[in-house]
Amino acid sequence: MNSYMIRKLLAKLFLSIDKTTSSVGSNSSRVLDDELQRSRNNARELSIKNRDRVYAMVKEVLNYYNTVSCQCAYPRFIQYTSIDCRDYDGTFFVLETEAFIEHAFEYFDVSKINNGEESIRSIYTCKKCKSTFEYGWSDFSIAISRAYLKPIQIMAIQIGAEADTPIPVVMGLCGHKLRTMEFYDMVTFDDFLAYIYELK
Ligand SMILES: [Zn+2]
Repeated sequence: MNSYMIRKLLAKLFLSIDKTTSSVGSNSSRVLDDELQRSRNNARELSIKNRDRVYAMVKEVLNYYNTVSCQCAYPRFIQYTSIDCRDYDGTFFVLETEAFIEHAFEYFDVSKINNGEESIRSIYTCKKCKSTFEYGWSDFSIAISRAYLKPIQIMAIQIGAEADTPIPVVMGLCGHKLRTMEFYDMVTFDDFLAYIYELK
């Protein structure tokens, strides 16, 4: 779950606790515990459901890119996969970036190179257009790791719309040291889909 969602859920939770404390007597602490647990469970379920939905959407979009051309022809694909917290001195990942890179794997040939500053580094070559990308992966803690896929040479004729800012995200950032949210725009699933499908 990203920090924006956590903040929203906590705000909601505190509001409901306020209401509870004013209306219950001696049982209030047990009621609060139940309420807190329920809210936590709901938040966790919602987060998993939303995450799965983003991954499913991205899988479908990549499939579409590859029926029309390939992912390399879409600047917005490259925009998401190129996000790298190290460029902003942060330790975070963007869920949409992770989804794109994970599902894009099947459309590339992969060859390992020396790791440099990363835990894993590879060259990804598009099976269709032969564009090349550098893949890197590192972890910063047990919970936080991030991957990137940055273009080296793009061979495909660009057919997707140009990348725009702020970057639309449904789930967004998760980590310890985040980039400020002014660079990201929390949007609905529909707006996210429209953005990644848009043509020139
Ligand atoms: Zn390609």
